[in-house]
Amino acid sequence: MPVLCGKCHSASAEVHIPYAKLSLCPKCFLDFYVRRVKGAVEDFGMFKEDDVVGVAVSGGKDSAALLHALRQAYPNLKVVALHVNLGIPKYSAHCQAKVEELTKMLDVELHVFNIVKELGIRISDFRKTVFRKKVCSACGTVKRHVFEDLARKAGVDVLATGHNLDDVAGVMFNNFFYGRWDQLVRLKPVLPPLAEGFASKVKPLIRISENENLLYCLYGDVPFREIDCPYSSGTGVRKRAEILEILSRDNPYFRHQVLNRFLELIPLLENVVSKPALVKCQVCGFPSSSDVCAFCKRVALVKKALGKG
Ligand SMILES: [Zn+2]
Ligand SMILES: [Zn+2]
Repeated sequence: MPVLCGKCHSASAEVHIPYAKLSLCPKCFLDFYVRRVKGAVEDFGMFKEDDVVGVAVSGGKDSAALLHALRQAYPNLKVVALHVNLGIPKYSAHCQAKVEELTKMLDVELHVFNIVKELGIRISDFRKTVFRKKVCSACGTVKRHVFEDLARKAGVDVLATGHNLDDVAGVMFNNFFYGRWDQLVRLKPVLPPLAEGFASKVKPLIRISENENLLYCLYGDVPFREIDCPYSSGTGVRKRAEILEILSRDNPYFRHQVLNRFLELIPLLENVVSKPALVKCQVCGFPSSSDVCAFCKRVALVKKALGKG
């Protein structure tokens, strides 16, 4: 005897949501997911209905689910998709093709920044620099900068990213252990603009697990990348958050609890964490804590290694 869906009581249940004590059919799961995204947007005041919302889409399941769910939740919202092509052989072309398929399907305008064309470098080139073992870290800096730039050029008020519950709770835990309070504070669901003319940043999937994003894409026929980044193995949040995995085994609500406790802590931390004074980067003009911003330093490093500097 199949278990019936706890919502519609007609179709058979395929997804069990332990923290909500619910078993749902695929259709009711999709509705449940969209309502959860909408709930986070509203609880944290992420954007207003007349804002232009830019979604940073990588081609991965999280940001693909985010863009799709925002279209379902807010059909009249002006949404644009932003994508960075990292110039990683095979991988980047595959990611961009998935993003194009998704945005075409949803009828969403797409803005692409190709770092090979625009900057004359590839993420792979970081292997020729001191970042050879930390390509992901350099890539993160490049992406954060380029998304800010793309958002500004596309007239975006609010930049939404696909950070999920597992990412955020894992990084929060990690920053806590190492006492990186300034970085912990940056994991808030809503971050104000860097400066006048920049977008605020929001994380609408902050309460949704990686697995729920995957199920949303599979049940909703949402296209997402099928290959992994050649540089991602052995790094990233997954490894660092193993302790969360262990602690979550007996308590499916554990990650939500971690998130909620840190969200209570952050306003208290903000009062004591000193914010660096910002100046304008001498190269690109972005707000920066030093004369040349981290992005421009990294680009210069690669160009030097390539003999273009
Ligand atoms: Zn159902
Ligand atoms: Zn700069």
